[in-house]
Amino acid sequence: MDFTATKALFDLPPGMVYLDGNSLGPLPRSAAARVAKTMTEEWGQMLITAWNRAGWMAQPTALGDRIGRLIGAGPGSVTTGDTLSVKVYQALAAALSLRPDRRVILSDTGNFPSDLYMAQGLSRALGHGHKLVTVAPEEVAARIGPDVAVLMLTEVDYRTGRRHDMPALIRAAHAAGALVIWDLAHSAGALPVDLSGSGVDFACGCTYKFLNAGPGAPAFIYVAPRHQGAVAPALSGWLGHEAPFAFDPDYRPGMGIERMRVGTPPVLQMAALDAALEIWDRVDMQVLRARSIELSERFIAGVEAICPELRLASPRDPEKRGSQVSFHFHEGYAAMQALIARGVVGDFRAPDIMRFGITPLYIDEGDIDRAVAVMGEVMGGRLWDREEYRTRSAVT
Ligand SMILES: *Cc1c(COP(=O)(O)O)cnc(C)c1O
Repeated sequence: MDFTATKALFDLPPGMVYLDGNSLGPLPRSAAARVAKTMTEEWGQMLITAWNRAGWMAQPTALGDRIGRLIGAGPGSVTTGDTLSVKVYQALAAALSLRPDRRVILSDTGNFPSDLYMAQGLSRALGHGHKLVTVAPEEVAARIGPDVAVLMLTEVDYRTGRRHDMPALIRAAHAAGALVIWDLAHSAGALPVDLSGSGVDFACGCTYKFLNAGPGAPAFIYVAPRHQGAVAPALSGWLGHEAPFAFDPDYRPGMGIERMRVGTPPVLQMAALDAALEIWDRVDMQVLRARSIELSERFIAGVEAICPELRLASPRDPEKRGSQVSFHFHEGYAAMQALIARGVVGDFRAPDIMRFGITPLYIDEGDIDRAVAVMGEVMGGRLWDREEYRTRSAVT
């Protein structure tokens, strides 16, 4: 793979080192023209006929198949739409309905809050006494037992980049009769995932982080083919109906993964996702992963050599880490603002985490070295110690 060539496919502001593609990927150069074409030629000229003529209606699952290649899912097992929080809700509702005699949803305390909130809200709505149990990430395996209906985890921790041992946890959950849901928000486009090979029951993720489909881009959901026929969708929208245009007053689930669709797809965002996936269609995830580890190791070694104030928050073993590197620093928010002001963009996660995404499609050794040098200046000279860097914005 030629990473110089892939870097040229992104529209990055000159002089910026963008280490936040784990939160919002950059703009693929082809996306602006693709969205414009969808607006002017399809929406503008074809109007309502574009649902058929431009393939809008088939787009959610066609895009899902392309994401599927990156996460080890076969055709017809992934569809796109809505947001990740909604897809978590759908997956969890489906999984719980397949284990009606059990009441525990097991997750970990490092999981992204929205995933936990969705589990809490769904449990309340079901009214059957389901209970969300969260334990420390390293205690998950020991907590799996006969009361667990569903093990719901995010593979890579959004704060620290710590990665769960997915195959081992799947085996343990299945041995105890539980189903598994994996949130791949920080895995899809970050590291190789083998959903069908590892026997995952349900998975979901978003496309605006590592996959670079832009703010508001649709999420994806995977349902193992063996479960698809048994799932009675909790969000039974018309586009998940067997025959949406029969306008039948009664819901009948659609074929296979189609039943996980809900309502009208976000066509303009799907156009951006289509452009973003054209880059991903050519990516070998094993090669990308090796490159991500190489760059991450270079970054950690560089920072640790010149910034003794920063303490590595990510696992030191690259196999136990996703595609991000985080450091603890008590003034992490101010330090990150000082870095951003100097063109090195990462982000901050409370209480004290400075987070940097390592994305080989558009980050190279030169970027890593420049980021390290600027971090050295900011930390060594206490350049973060200014009032203006302490004012918190709504989005950190
Ligand atoms: C980013 C992220 C989300 C965000 O959900 P949205 O509905 O897309 O806002 C949810 N879960 C995890 C694990 C995430 O990393």
